[in-house]
Amino acid sequence: MDIIHLLPDSVANQIAAGEVIQRPASCLKELVENSLDAGATRVQVIVRDAGRTLLQVIDNGFGMSEMDARLAFERHATSKIREAQDLFSLRTMGFRGEALASICAVAQVEMTTRRAEDETGTLIEIHGSDVVRQEVCSCPVGTNIKVSNLFFNVPVRRKFLKSDQTELRNLLTEFYHIVLVYPKVAFTFVHNDEIVLELPAGTEKQRIEAVFGNPKRNVFTSNFVDVNTETDLVSIRGFVIKPESATRKAEQYFFVNGRYMRHPYFLKAVQNAYSGMLTADYQPSFFLYFEINPEAIDVNIHPTKTEIKFADEQAIFQILMAAVREALGKFTLAPQIDFDTKGSIDIPLPTDRPVERPQVTVDPHYNPFHTRGAMYPDRQQPVKGWESLYEGLSNNRITPNTLNIDSAPMWQHGRYIFLSTDEGLLLIHPHRAHAAVLYAQFLEQLAHAQGAMQQLLFPEVLSLQPDRMILLEQILPDLRTIGFELEQLSPDSYSIQGVPAQIVNQSPIPVLEDILHQVRTCGASTQEQWRKQIAASLAEQAAIPSGKTLTDSEMRDIVTRLMALPNYRRTADGKTIVSLVTDEELSKRFA
Ligand code: ADP
Ligand code: MG
Repeated sequence: MDIIHLLPDSVANQIAAGEVIQRPASCLKELVENSLDAGATRVQVIVRDAGRTLLQVIDNGFGMSEMDARLAFERHATSKIREAQDLFSLRTMGFRGEALASICAVAQVEMTTRRAEDETGTLIEIHGSDVVRQEVCSCPVGTNIKVSNLFFNVPVRRKFLKSDQTELRNLLTEFYHIVLVYPKVAFTFVHNDEIVLELPAGTEKQRIEAVFGNPKRNVFTSNFVDVNTETDLVSIRGFVIKPESATRKAEQYFFVNGRYMRHPYFLKAVQNAYSGMLTADYQPSFFLYFEINPEAIDVNIHPTKTEIKFADEQAIFQILMAAVREALGKFTLAPQIDFDTKGSIDIPLPTDRPVERPQVTVDPHYNPFHTRGAMYPDRQQPVKGWESLYEGLSNNRITPNTLNIDSAPMWQHGRYIFLSTDEGLLLIHPHRAHAAVLYAQFLEQLAHAQGAMQQLLFPEVLSLQPDRMILLEQILPDLRTIGFELEQLSPDSYSIQGVPAQIVNQSPIPVLEDILHQVRTCGASTQEQWRKQIAASLAEQAAIPSGKTLTDSEMRDIVTRLMALPNYRRTADGKTIVSLVTDEELSKRFA
C-alpha cells in the first residue's frame, strides 16, 4: 500500500497557519500590513476579548476586485511579487501571499471590499478555508475584514493562548511596531468597545508622543535628541534619549526600511554609545530608523519577519555607535589614549573584503640590543607588517612588511601591552585581546562540537527560577557541546559535574548564571544568537583579568593568537583591542 499522499489544501493551510499565525497579535499584524500595502491613510482596528472572539480591520485602501477578493485567500496568492528575484527588492510589508490563506484556515472570516472604480463591492465569507458565501454588496471603498473565533478548529492553539491581558499586550506591541513607521496614516485601536489609542496623522515625533507620552510610559520627545547619519552603506535617523532622562524600563525600537526589527547586536552598539553615562541597570530609550539598500538585507529568515540579517553588520555597528555618540555630544577626539573613543587607528573594519592575516615570520637580522623605538636613528625595524592595521586609512604610510611577534620589543606598562614599531607605539588591551581569542575559540568549538570538558571533583548544584530554567533547557545542548556536564536533579535544579576546560579555575555557578543573564538580556532567540552570547560570556569570564602582570611568553602568546584572528582590532561588541600612538603624535608632545 502506498503511504505517501498529498495533504488536502485545508490541512496544508492549517499547518502553514501555525507558522504565520501564532496568536491574535500575528493575525493583527498581517491584516494591518495588508491595509498599509493597499495604500490606506486611515486604519481602524476593532478587537474583542483580546482578539479571541473578534479581530476586525477596516481600511480605506485600494480594495479588491471581485476576482481578487476570492483569490486573496488562496495560498501563495499575492499581488506583490511575481518572481523569486523580486524578494530582494522588497518594499511592501507582505510578500509571501500566505497570511490570508493561513488566517481563513483557522478562523471564520468575513470580508467586504470595493475598489474606487467599481460601483458595487464584494462580500465573501470563509470558515476554515471553505467559502460559505460570496455575493455582491454595497460598501465603502477599501477593505473591511472581520476575523471571528480565531483557532475555532485548532483547540491546541486556543489552549496555548495566554490570558486576555497578555494577549492584549501582544496585540498592542505589534500595533506599536507598525504605527511608529506610518505616522502619516491615522489609526484607532478599540478593545471591548473602548478606545485604547486614537492616533491622528502627524510627524514621527508626534506619533511617538501620541503612543508613549503618557504618565505610565513617560516618553516625551523633548527628552530626546536627534540622530542623523548618512553613509553609502546605510542612513540612520531617529531619536535617542538624553542620558539624564533614561529609566529602568526603556522603549527600544529599531526599524529598517519601514519594518520593525529586533537586533540584539545593534542594541549593543547603542548601549556602548551610552557607556559610562547611565546609572547601573538604566536603559536608553530610542527610536531608530535605518534605510538601507534592500539587497543588503535578508528579511526572509523567519516567517514572522522581525529578525533581519544584514550583509555588513560590523560596519553598521560602528556607524550606529558613532551616530549615537555624536548625537549625545560625546564625540570628541580624546587627546589621551582612550580605548573607548575614536583614536588614531580606530577605523571601521573593512568588512567588504576579508581582512588579511598578518604573516608571522622570523626576522633573521633582528638584534634586540640594537632596537628600542624611535629614539635610535639607526635602529632596525622591530615590528613590521601590521600595516594591515591601516587598511582603509587614506594616508597609508606603511609599506608592506612582515610582523615578527616572537622577537619584537614588547613590554607591559599598567594594564596595557606595548610594542615598539616603526611608526610609533602599538598598544594592546590584554584582557580584550584574550577575550577575543577565546570568543573565536568557543564559537569554533560550538560550531564543530569539539568543546573540551573538565570533570569537577566536587559537583555543584545550580538552582534556578522557572524562567531561567526554560532558558537553560533551550540552550542546554549547546552548553553540553561546549563542555558543561549538567544533570537535572529536580524541576528547578541541575548538578554541574563538568565545565569547559578553559574555565576550570572559575566557580561554575556564577559562570552559568552570567551566560543565562547574557542570553536573556540580549533577547537571543535563534541558536546562532545564543551561541554568540554563550561564547561571549565564557570568553569574558575566562580571559585574564585586566591589569594582571604577564610574563613575556604570555604576552607574546596572546598577541600572536590575537593577530591570527580575522577581526583582531575589535571585540565582538565593538570595543577597541589595539591602538596606535604614531611617532608623529609622540614628537608633537615635545614640540
Ligand atoms: P501578501 O500580503 O503576502 O501578498 P496576503 O495573504 O496577506 O499576502 O494577501 C494576499 C493578497 O490579497 C495581497 O497581495 C493583496 O493583493 C490582497 N489584499 C489583502 N488584504 C488587502 C487589503 N486590505 N486591501 C487590498 N488588497 C488586499
Ligand atoms: Mg499580507
